This record gives sequence, structure tokens and C-alpha cells, in this order.
Amino acid sequence: MLSRSLLLRMAASPQIERFVKRNGMSAGFARRFVAGETMEEVVAPMRALNERGMSVSLDYLGENVTRAEEAAGAAEYYGRLFRFIDANRLDANVSLKLTQLGLDIDNSLAYQNMRRILDEARRYDQFVRIDMEGSAYTARTVQLFECLWADYKNVGVVIQAYLYRSRQDIERLIELGARVRLCKGAYSEPKEVAFAHKADVDANYLRLMKTLLKQGRYPAIATHDEAMIGATREYAQEAGIPRDAFEFQMLYGIRRDLQRSLVREGYRMRVYVPFGTQWYGYLMRRLAERPANLGFVLKNLLRR
Ligand SMILES: Cc1cc2nc3c(=O)[nH]c(=O)nc-3n(C[C@H](O)[C@H](O)[C@H](O)COP(=O)(O)OP(=O)(O)OC[C@H]3O[C@@H](n4cnc5c(N)ncnc54)[C@H](O)[C@@H]3O)c2cc1C
Repeated sequence: MLSRSLLLRMAASPQIERFVKRNGMSAGFARRFVAGETMEEVVAPMRALNERGMSVSLDYLGENVTRAEEAAGAAEYYGRLFRFIDANRLDANVSLKLTQLGLDIDNSLAYQNMRRILDEARRYDQFVRIDMEGSAYTARTVQLFECLWADYKNVGVVIQAYLYRSRQDIERLIELGARVRLCKGAYSEPKEVAFAHKADVDANYLRLMKTLLKQGRYPAIATHDEAMIGATREYAQEAGIPRDAFEFQMLYGIRRDLQRSLVREGYRMRVYVPFGTQWYGYLMRRLAERPANLGFVLKNLLRR
């Protein structure tokens, strides 16, 4: 069985990248996780989710840009996206990555692009979630978030339960009154910064979930793990936390059955819907999380 870190390392190979990019959409396996390549294409899947009682967080895929013009182009695109969501009356907010906005080039470039985006978001009463990337970016992402928080309250951030530092980050974010999405973490991290074993990540997830539910502001519990979801439900009930005081979040195409059953039971559910042409990194992280997904990829390739 291929391990998660091996899969993530393989993803860096230019040959594999070329092959997957050439075949992913046409063979259909990328479509399971990526809703489409343009904003027009994702209206129908978003509407279908909304009609089933689920909100959306729309992710215009892109990361690690190396040119300032590319980062500015992405910032400008978000302005169009807010208008588009508004014009189509979709129940959706936006998730994005700071390296799409130039964090690899210069912190202040990413900061200025975020300000532009948040100014535009404000005009449409929109909320923007900053995704959390690999641990090389954690400190800068949290710092940049805090700078933005001084002027904008329509922004939130993500904390990963696999990092040792996350407890302190969450305490600080609660103190600020900021909205946090809690996830386990999707990158391959060294043991100096992150728990290596699933049991330790899960235990930390549960600790952080309880802290956020008890003291946080409208936290997002982002996971497909039934044990984490069950524990969240139990804790909310015990602590008398109403179902509309938090939301569950899941990724597009993953555990649709669970998404629907939670909605039927009256929980809030937001589905993270990625789209765009830059889907390679996102797709490879989804495959690495669950190497069994490779079987699905192979089946689609063979079917052609
Ligand atoms: C809304 C949302 C936003 C996220 N944002 C970020 C972020 O900003 N930064 C970040 O590092 N990570 C992010 N993640 C990813 C997250 O960190 C995990 O990598 C991912 O959610 C898998 O962990 P899990 O909690 O589902 O638990 P796991 O223990 O990994 O999985 C539990 C079960 O979920 C199902 N499952 C999980 N992943 C898959 C998959 N890829 N394909 C099929 N089934 C699967 C399987 O049934 C599995 O047994 C996000 C996840 C969600 C749901």
C-alpha cells in the first residue's frame, strides 16, 4: 500500500504531473473532487448543494504563484467571483490560499492582495476563509490574519490539529473573537512540528473541537471522520450548545451520504467546492489522504 507521504512526494514529479494534468479531467477522475474549471460550470453543482440545504465555500484553485502579476490576477478574479455569487443568489462564501496571492514572493504583497479582496467582499457582505497550507507558512499565515483582523471582521482562518502549535493558536484566535475552521491537516509534515500518528492527531482534534465549541465564535468542524463527528455531536449536546452555533464542513465529492444525513438531522453543513484549472495539487492531496482513491483513478483510466 502506498503511504501518504510517498504519494505526496510522487506528486512533485514533473512526469506524473504532466500525465495527471493531461488525463485528469478527460478521464473523469479529477471531476470527482473538482467541480469544474470555470465559475459558470460550478453554478449547477452549487445550486444542487444549496437545494439540499447545504452552504458552500467556493475555492478558486491556485497556490504557490511565483509572479506578482499572477497574484494580482487572482485577487482581481475574487472580485468577479463575489459579484457572480451575488448575481446568482448562491449560498456560498469563499476559501483561498495566501500563496495564491503572493506569499512566496513577499508577505506584504499577499497582505495587500488580501485587503483588496476583503474590501470587495465587504461590498457584497461576503466572508473569506484563509486556508492553512504547509507548516512553512503557518506562523506567517496566522500573523497576516491578525493584521487583517484589525481592519476586517469578514475573514476567518484554518487550524490543523496535527500541528503541536495549534492549541496556542486557537487560544489566541478565541481571544480575538475570530472564526476558526478546524481540520486535521493535509500536508506531509516532519515530526518536529506535527503528530505523526493518527491516534494523536485525532486526540488533539477532539481537544481543540471542544475548546472551539465551548469558547469559539461559530467554529467550523471540518472532517469526514465519523468518530470526530460523533464526538462533536455528543459534546454539543452535553454542553447545551445549539446546532446553529457551529457548522460541519466536508469536501466536495467526499462522504456525500454523511453530508446529507447530518442536514436531515438539523445540523449545518458547508461543502468546500474547489474549481479552476489549477487542480493538480488539490487532487493529489485528496489521493494521498486515501490511497484507496487510486483504485478509482485507475478504473477511470482503464474505462477509456
Ligand atoms: C472543508 C474542509 C476544508 C479543509 N481545509 C484544509 C486546509 O485549509 N488545510 C489543510 O491542511 N487541510 C484542509 N482540509 C483537509 C483536512 O486537513 C484533511 O486532510 C481531510 O479532511 C481528511 O481528514 P478527515 O478529517 O476527513 O479524517 P481522516 O481520518 O483522514 O478520514 C476519515 C474518513 O473520511 C473519509 N475520507 C477522508 N479523506 C478522504 C478522501 N480524500 N477521499 C475519500 N474519502 C476520504 C474516509 O472515509 C476516511 O476513513 C480540509 C478539509 C475539509 C473537510
